[in-house]
This record gives sequence, structure tokens and C-alpha cells, in this order.
Amino acid sequence: LPAPIETDALVIGAGPVGLFQAFQLGLLEIPCHIVDALPAAGGQCVQLYGDKPIYDIPGIPATTGHGLATALLEQLAPLKPSFHFEQQVASLERQPDQRLLLRTSKGTGFLAKTVFIAAGVGAFVPKRIALEDIQRFEGAALFYHPESLERFDGQAVVVNGGDDAALATALALVGRARQVTLVHRRDGFQADEGLVARMRAAVAEGSLRFAVGQPTAFDGKALQIATPDAQTLSLPLDALIACLGISPRLGPIADWGLDLVRKQIPVDTERFQTRESGVFAVGDINTYPGKKKLIVCGFHEATLAAWGATEIVFPGKAVPLQYTTTSTRLHQLLGVG
Ligand code: FAD
Repeated sequence: LPAPIETDALVIGAGPVGLFQAFQLGLLEIPCHIVDALPAAGGQCVQLYGDKPIYDIPGIPATTGHGLATALLEQLAPLKPSFHFEQQVASLERQPDQRLLLRTSKGTGFLAKTVFIAAGVGAFVPKRIALEDIQRFEGAALFYHPESLERFDGQAVVVNGGDDAALATALALVGRARQVTLVHRRDGFQADEGLVARMRAAVAEGSLRFAVGQPTAFDGKALQIATPDAQTLSLPLDALIACLGISPRLGPIADWGLDLVRKQIPVDTERFQTRESGVFAVGDINTYPGKKKLIVCGFHEATLAAWGATEIVFPGKAVPLQYTTTSTRLHQLLGVG
């Protein structure tokens, strides 16, 4: 395994609260790294309501999920945090020197003085096909929500799913892949009407095949499906792409000894620290008397958690409160004025 990156702070989750956490840490001159399972920042705001309006962010009468994520990233940019995307933080262990060792699903390691769990409702990961042992084909003959499609050029590809992502992927493969078959459990789609119309047209002209059925077996060379009329179909392929949706999984955080209560991490309301010193939890993942799962509450929690971290990162040093309006040091950090 690669040597861990030493850091004052590690933020788990690049949702709105994780992003604001990094901003508050930056103002207190605590550099941080941010890890997210997704390929980009924004958490629920981008995954669940990217284009919907949001009206209760202080000082912003109206924005969207995407708009808020973009604004938070822009606000944070001068403080230059390091992002690590497409990896889930898998383990957290206290070291003899009191620092915390964390490892991600990609093997990246961090040795951190403080950790901020801003994991929301869990890591957003693609839903897997429910067949035993199928994970051994991942990355070779099985792909979930692939970022780019070049590697499938000239191949026989089966796309499993019935939402926007599945239809868009199947249509994008037409003309690049040698053969494209869309497989969905029923002949109906929860997808944009335009995409469905394009898919039906491609099937009618013969450039796309469509089969209704549920996967029952996969050996890396063919997908077997059970059709509604109880037939078994075998679809030979070079690659199987599954777009079955992206859903949050709490995952490994449950095993970190943080005494979860109904899948939430209990914290105090002075520092938003968990039962483990130096491990803070902010945003939707935490619980305390009166907790409300609102972005504005997460912003407050992140602010006090960052102050809590100063006691660990700068022991014995009284850190003064400074206003962004008037502090020349903060202006320097923010690259303004
Ligand atoms: P999230 O946004 O859930 O982000 C957590 C991030 O952590 C995710 O990106 C996830 O992939 C990542 N993660 C988790 N575990 C790991 C791990 N182990 N390793 C790596 N990454 C990990 N709130 C309001 O205040 N106003 C509203 O109007 C409003 N409207 C909403 C509408 C809808 C439809 C929904 C679903 C929610 C709404 N909310 C609203 C709630 C708001 O979106 C949440 O309170 C907010 O997203 C919480 O932010 P967060 O950063 O704590 O978590």
C-alpha cells in the first residue's frame, strides 16, 4: 500500500456540509484533504435535486442544487483543498501517536490529526446487480455507470437498466459498439420521454436490440436473463454495463466504533465531536438533541467543528476570532483586497 498522506484534517464527503467544512478549516489555516465516493462534489444537492430550486440558503433567495455546489466550490477555491474523488473511505484506525489512519477503496491512505465525517446519508455508489459472485467481473467484463465509453468501441455490449442513464448509455454506444442490447425488467421506462422515443426509434431501425428480462446468471461471456414468459435467454457479450441507479450506502462508517444511533453518529453540540477525540461528525450524518437535517444547520456545525479542531492542531495556542470583513490575514488567505 502507498505511504499515507499526512494531513492536519481529512474531510469525508464533498456534499454541501463537507465543502463548507473545508472552507471553515481553511479560514483557521488548517489545510485539508476531501474524499468522496462520487466523481464530483455536491452530495445530495447534485445527485438528488441538481436542477430543482432551493430557497433557504442564507442570503441566497433562490438557487439550485447544482448552483449551490458550484458556489460553495468557488468560495472554497482560494483555500486550495485537495480532492480525492471516486473512492470510499473504508477504514479508520487510531494510531499510537493519536493520529487517525484512514484508507480508501482505491488504497489511498491518510494519517490525519483530525477527521470530519460529512458523509450525509452515506456514500453514493452504483446499485449492483444482485447475482452471487458477480463482483469478480467488475472492471473486466462488468461496468457500473462508466465515465467514458471509448473502451467499448467495436464490442458487443449489453446495457442493463431502464432509467435516463441506461437509455443514454445504450444510445451513445450505437455506432461505436459492434452490437448494443438494452435489457430491462419490463417494457416501460422511468426516463425522459425524448430518450425513450429515441430508444424506440433505434430499436425499430435495428441499430439497438431490446430484451425484457431479469438477469439470472453471468459468466463474463454471456448474460442469462429470465423473460416474463418464463423463457431463459442467453446474450453473448464482451461487456455488461449496468445503470441501475446510484444510491447512498452508509457502508464502512458503521464499523468505526462510533456508537451509531439509528444510523446517525452522536455528537456533542459544542464541537460536534463524536465519542472519539479528533473525530467530528457534521451534516446529515450526525445526531444530537434538536437535530434538523438542513444545510444551514450543517454549516453551523462545520463552523464549530473547525474551531474544535484548533485545540488539536494548535495545542496550547489561543486562536483569535477574526472577521472576513476586516482581517488582513483572512484577506490574504482568500486572495482578496
Ligand atoms: P450529503 O449531501 O449527503 O453528502 C455526503 C457526501 O459524502 C456524498 O457525496 C457521499 O458520496 C459522501 N460519502 C459518504 N460516505 C462516504 C465515504 N465513506 N467515503 C467517501 N465519500 C462518502 N436541505 C435544505 O436545507 N433545504 C432544502 O430545501 C432541501 N431540499 C432537499 C430536497 C431533497 C429532494 C433532498 C433529498 C434533500 C433536501 N435537503 C434540503 C437536505 C440537504 O440536501 C441535506 O441536508 C444535505 O445534502 C446534507 O449535506 P451533507 O454534506 O451532510 O451530506
